[in-house]
Amino acid sequence: MGLLARVQQAAAGGGEPLIDLGRGNPDVAPPPHVIEALVESAREQTARVHGYAPFAGLPELRRAIAERYARTYGVELDPDREVAVVPGTKSALVELVLCLAERGDTVLLPDPYYPDYPSGVALAGADLRLLPLDPERGYAPRFDLAPREHLAAVFLNYPSNPTAAAVPDGAFAETVAFARETGAAIIHDFAYGDLVFDGREPRSFLAEPGAREVGVELFSMSKSYGMAGWRLGFVAGNAELVGRMTTLQDHVRAGIFTPVQQAGIAALTGPQDTVGERVQLYQRRRDRILAAVGHLAAPCAGTFYVWIRLPDDVTPTRLLEEHRLVVAPGEGFGPSGVGWARLSLATPDEVIDAGLERLGGALA
Ligand code: PMP
Repeated sequence: MGLLARVQQAAAGGGEPLIDLGRGNPDVAPPPHVIEALVESAREQTARVHGYAPFAGLPELRRAIAERYARTYGVELDPDREVAVVPGTKSALVELVLCLAERGDTVLLPDPYYPDYPSGVALAGADLRLLPLDPERGYAPRFDLAPREHLAAVFLNYPSNPTAAAVPDGAFAETVAFARETGAAIIHDFAYGDLVFDGREPRSFLAEPGAREVGVELFSMSKSYGMAGWRLGFVAGNAELVGRMTTLQDHVRAGIFTPVQQAGIAALTGPQDTVGERVQLYQRRRDRILAAVGHLAAPCAGTFYVWIRLPDDVTPTRLLEEHRLVVAPGEGFGPSGVGWARLSLATPDEVIDAGLERLGGALA
C-alpha cells in the first residue's frame, strides 16, 4: 500500500486526528484588493467579461507581468512575444514538454524534482534522465555528469521544491552554457520565485545573459499571491517557445475567465507588501522547524518547505502509523530523496508546533 492510501486509511480509522505537514497548499488568502477586482469584474454584465476572453490572455495582463519582471527581477520582456498566459504552471510544465520532445528524445530532470515533471516526459514518449544536483554546492546542477545525446529539454527549479535551495551562484550561467552546447531547451520552474529568505533578492533565470535564447521560465500566481485555486500563471522568455505555448492555449483552453485575469492584473500592479509579508510568515515558520530539527535539515533558503533527512528507523510510514504525523516522503521526488522527507510551511503555526512535537517524539 502506498503512503497516500495509508493516510486515507489512518484518517478514516478514527483515533487521534492526523497532523499533516505533507501538503503544500497556501494557507493565507490573496490580498483583499485582488478579491475585489475579481468581484467587480464579474459584476459587469457584458460580453467583454462573460464572453470568450482573448485566447492569448488580456494584453493588459501580459503587460502587467512584463512590468513586474522589470521591477522585481530587472528583466525586460516584450509582452506580445515573450509572455504566454496559462491557467497555472502545473499544466504548462507538462505542455512545454509536449511542445519540445518526442519519442527518441531525452528530457533531463533535476534529482530531486517536483513530481509533476515526469508526466510530460511520459506523455511525449520521451526518455527521462536525471541531472544530479550537488548538495555540497547548494544543489547546483552537475552538468559534468549529464547525458548530452538527443537532449530536447532540461528542467530546473530554483527556489527548489523539495530541497528549498535558492539558486547557487554561477548555476544559471552554467545552464545557459550547457544549453548552447547541447541545443537543449531550458524550462526554469520559478513557481516559488519570490519566496526567498534572510534578505535574499529573488533571482530570475531570464536575468542571465543569453537565457531567453535558450529557454523559458514559469511564473505562478499561486505562491507569491496565495492564488493557487485561481489557476493563473505565465510562461516567459524564448519567443518561439512562448508562441507555441500561446497557440496551444488558444486551441486547448480558449481563454481564461476575464475576472480571474483582471484580478491577476490587480495583484501584479497593486501594492506588493503582502508578498513580503508571506515571505516573513514562511521564514518565521521555517525558523520554528529549524529550531526543533535543524540538525536534520538541508539549508532552507526559500519556498515553503523544509527538506529533512530522516534517521534510518524513522520512516514516513512509521511517522504516520505510530505518531499520526503525515510528511511528504522523499522518494516521491526522485532517487536522491530516499531517506528524506519534506515538511510544509504552508500550515498554521499551531499545526506546525503539534507536528514538531510528534516528530520530536519519533526522533527521541
Ligand atoms: N512547480 C512547483 C515546483 C510546484 O511546487 C508547484 C505547485 N505545487 C507548481 C509548479 C504548480 O503551481 P501552479 O500550477 O499552481 O502554478
